[in-house]
Amino acid sequence: MTDVTVTLRAIQREIAAAAARCGRDPSAIRLVAVSKKQPLESIRAAIAAGQADFGENYLQEAVVKTAALAGSGAVWHFIGRVQANKTREIATAFDWVQTVDRQRVAIRLNEHRAALPSALNVCIQVRLERDARRPGIDPEQVSELAGQIELLPRLRLRGLMCMPPLTGDPVRQRGFFDTAAALFDSLRRDGLALDTLSMGTTADLATAIAAGSTMVRIGTAVFGPRPLAGP
Ligand SMILES: *Cc1c(COP(=O)(O)O)cnc(C)c1O
Repeated sequence: MTDVTVTLRAIQREIAAAAARCGRDPSAIRLVAVSKKQPLESIRAAIAAGQADFGENYLQEAVVKTAALAGSGAVWHFIGRVQANKTREIATAFDWVQTVDRQRVAIRLNEHRAALPSALNVCIQVRLERDARRPGIDPEQVSELAGQIELLPRLRLRGLMCMPPLTGDPVRQRGFFDTAAALFDSLRRDGLALDTLSMGTTADLATAIAAGSTMVRIGTAVFGPRPLAGP
């Protein structure tokens, strides 16, 4: 099994090196360890090694894990596709939902968060290519959705999240990240108090940081290949 103490340290070093190369402060980049399809023991080991933030995609799997690790101090980020009929469970089991891409889902998350004392942190998921099958909202619609979310008192809009298409072409890849960063900057110039630009995975961590990412979501490089079979 992967020794997460070692891999976490290596990734922190990689983040620091990528930040140094572009003159950024590494402490401005938050690491979310993506633990989907990973067993509880791996998450426990990561918590013991000082890792705080965890990302999960599959609700049923995640609910079991968050319940088992209640009181551990872990901060849970939902990064999977949000189904409108699952918003109650998502709003109560998670601290963050990074994949909000429509008003209906935002309204329902807000409603169901009323049961908890703290607001739910959310990011708007942006789609960086013209492909209606991909999750996320088109860049030109982000500002309107952000305005709608700002009106919901149980949600705290933190920023944007994106999952750019995989491409072997580093220039194209950088272009996707730059588009997201420009959108993030323009929302902030419009007066929104956003602090999170969530982009970068195992494959493209350094490029994302060079483009301005403040939160990277790393699975494979932390935990190794995903061992739990299934959808
Ligand atoms: C699985 C996943 C990740 C992590 O991907 P790795 O390649 O394992 O680092 C990040 N973001 C999202 C949305 C994911 O689904």
